[in-house]
Amino acid sequence: MLIGCATTGPGGKKSVIFIPTGQEVAIGAGMARHVDSTENILADPVWQNYINEVGQRIVAVSDRKDIEYHFTVIDSDQINAFAAPGGFIYFYTGLIREMDDEAEFASVLAHEISHVVGRHGIRRLQTALGVAAAYELVFGDSTSVVLNAAISLGVGLLFADYSRDNEREADTFGMHYMVKAGYNPNAMLSMFNILAEKGNHEPNVFEKMASSHPETKERIDRAFKQLDEIKPLPPDLILGQARFKQMLERLPKK
Ligand SMILES: [Zn+2]
Repeated sequence: MLIGCATTGPGGKKSVIFIPTGQEVAIGAGMARHVDSTENILADPVWQNYINEVGQRIVAVSDRKDIEYHFTVIDSDQINAFAAPGGFIYFYTGLIREMDDEAEFASVLAHEISHVVGRHGIRRLQTALGVAAAYELVFGDSTSVVLNAAISLGVGLLFADYSRDNEREADTFGMHYMVKAGYNPNAMLSMFNILAEKGNHEPNVFEKMASSHPETKERIDRAFKQLDEIKPLPPDLILGQARFKQMLERLPKK
């Protein structure tokens, strides 16, 4: 996916630069260190293992396996989840508490994994960095300085909007991966409905997805259409209600 900034490369030749996977992971790891030190990471290994298990089940059927994915639950009332570049995915207990089953949990994980598969985060960051800094990051010598600048900028962008095209792609890939991983994709629709309902009362619900009604409606319409195209659904798709209920009971009492 060579979507980068057109610039003049070495020898005056026109070339396209893009931040390669190694640098993407280094930037994402730096951002993750910042998140780990500033957010209240849920101190329950059972929950951290659980999110990792569900996450890896989706990664296994995804289109990007050249990196290692990390999944972490943050103990916070925020109704949100996000992905840093390079496969570092975070999920707030505030969002978990809104859910009824593992398939809904998987639908949001699949959406976030899809942002990583589509390299949406690193492309957003590269645009923000500008051509000169991105060029320096890829070809320059003083990479640690530029790397640290990229990490700082990336942290500031963690909750910025993705483009609508990126969101559409994350929704489409996400539903596709859910089904491949054995989850009932109707859970993605119920998730949209929960978030739309929630967004009527609270701002900043899950990537601000409910902040503008036409957009949420469009996402629901697209999901319905995709669901129609997938049908008939494979047998044995799960919602995973019983296990998820047990996991909900493990969350810290509010
Ligand atoms: Zn998204």
